[in-house]
Amino acid sequence: MERASLLLALDFGGTKLTAGLTALGERRWRAHRRVPAPPGSNAQSDREIMMALVQDMLATAELPLAAVGVSFGGPVDAARGVVLLSHHVPGWENTPLRQWLEARLGVPVAVDNDANAGALGEWRFGAGQGCDSILYVTVSTGIGGGWVVNGQPYRGADGMAGEIGHIVIQPGGPECICGRRGCLEALAAGPAIARRARECLAENPTAGKALRALVSGDVETITARHVSQAAATGDDLAQQVLDEAAYFLGQGIGSAITLMNPQRVVVGGGVAKSGPRYFEMVRAAARANVLPGMTVDIVPAALGDDAPLWGAVVLAGDLLN
Ligand SMILES: [Zn+2]
Repeated sequence: MERASLLLALDFGGTKLTAGLTALGERRWRAHRRVPAPPGSNAQSDREIMMALVQDMLATAELPLAAVGVSFGGPVDAARGVVLLSHHVPGWENTPLRQWLEARLGVPVAVDNDANAGALGEWRFGAGQGCDSILYVTVSTGIGGGWVVNGQPYRGADGMAGEIGHIVIQPGGPECICGRRGCLEALAAGPAIARRARECLAENPTAGKALRALVSGDVETITARHVSQAAATGDDLAQQVLDEAAYFLGQGIGSAITLMNPQRVVVGGGVAKSGPRYFEMVRAAARANVLPGMTVDIVPAALGDDAPLWGAVVLAGDLLN
């Protein structure tokens, strides 16, 4: 009998559902499926869509399944394998996802949040390889973070370690989704960049020509991606807005470095695709906010959108040790 060695990785991402199948020790997907979550989806429909992807993949698998790792886009009690809630999809409150999957797939399952999974993925397979400790930061519609310390995920007392998006950078600053003001997320995540660009355009009616052209003058539809595109073509206003966001991110990362002194910081997510100038600004601001002699090694993520999925592979593989 062949040894059961297939690892299944699942990523419940809020707006998309992804499943990947690989084998122990392998670095490629034997199968990979990604589908958008349909509008109006809920926890139950997400689980059903995911199970359909899984059954489709396992139907043609050459080896038996050994373990499953899950990355979830929201707070998770990793020790119990329970999803606490989703900020994007209704109905996930206190869902025993590990138990649910184990009952259906008959193999051990591990569940963690997407930032911790992303950290594990980048550490084992991506830009954090060979490091003893990394901070992974993802900058998209929100800002999340996860730690690997001494080669282990560090989750904290409440499973909330790494919440760098909610470090206050500017007391009294813009309102944050968490109910406080001036958090890093409210200053440097995608929606904050778009909002700041709209404010600057309103204050400077003759500036930001390239940015305005990208949205055919409809300033209300501006996204962070538009700002980054306009900045790349040399639009001064877009460049300034992006520089400012990078500066705030660097400040936040600098505080995290000062506290934990990680070997490397890996930055992923859509906003982190804004190019070399963005990274130079982040590094400069971080360097200015750490003690002399501290390592400031800040690099782009290597695995892109698949970082949490590769982290789920690590979670699954660790179940077999
Ligand atoms: Zn906050």
